[in-house]
Amino acid sequence: MLVSAKEMLNKARDGKYAVGQFNINNLEWTKSILQTAEELKSPVILGVSEGAGKYMCGYKTVVGMVNGMLEEMKITVPVALHLDHGSYEGAKACIEAGFSSVMFDGSHYPIDENVTKTTELVKICNDKGLSIEAEVGSIGGEEDGVVGMGECADPKECKMIADLGVTMLAAGIGNIHGKYPDNWAGLSFETLEAVKNEVGDMPLVLHGGTGIPADMIKKAISLGVAKINVNTECQLAFQEATRKYIEAGKDKEGKGFDPRKLLAPGAEAIKATVKEKMELFGSVGKA
Ligand SMILES: [Zn+2]
Repeated sequence: MLVSAKEMLNKARDGKYAVGQFNINNLEWTKSILQTAEELKSPVILGVSEGAGKYMCGYKTVVGMVNGMLEEMKITVPVALHLDHGSYEGAKACIEAGFSSVMFDGSHYPIDENVTKTTELVKICNDKGLSIEAEVGSIGGEEDGVVGMGECADPKECKMIADLGVTMLAAGIGNIHGKYPDNWAGLSFETLEAVKNEVGDMPLVLHGGTGIPADMIKKAISLGVAKINVNTECQLAFQEATRKYIEAGKDKEGKGFDPRKLLAPGAEAIKATVKEKMELFGSVGKA
């Protein structure tokens, strides 16, 4: 059964580790992530962007697939199904469809409007026992066509949003989505510490986990980050393994064209990436 991300993140915050949010795109992605979480006895959050939700034929399809897998694969670790960077309408649709967690990304609204909309969604989520993530300070890079510049969040605004009763808070600290450019300045731990001082116990979320050096990840966790989002890295691992398979001509050998064979190396590569991240984040054995 899907669970809210609240308990797993509070435990992570107290235990000084982080739970990974791994974004899903299809059945193979979901299966690989769930298999790895179960093998490593790690809690996990499956992230679904609105674009990926559309791609998978809508939120109800996603909920049906994930719930089916939890049962058929006999998953025992805590799993949350979470809308990533949701719009106001998207968050409502996911709540309706059976997601156990949503992110409302109101970072592009003026702070007053972000507050109003977040307040309403917090009430709905609290009534239903779902977790809700809010964002302050837009996160750089591109995600589903939305481009942010990677600003640092205003700690006072973080406090204002945290006080609305959200479960976890994403604060921009110089992190960006996708691959990091060579001239990236790194995470602003100064901002992270200032945010932490304002919001107290609130579990913090680090977006754009792909390619942040391990020492920065560990420092971020020590300063209150309890959820780290990983998306691009699984895509790159899948792409590289699939390319190797085809370039080696294996799709032309025997029944190598069978999609179950063709997609297998990519699925294994996702598992290896998820394992590596769970080990780095410290969530192994914490389920
Ligand atoms: Zn993000």
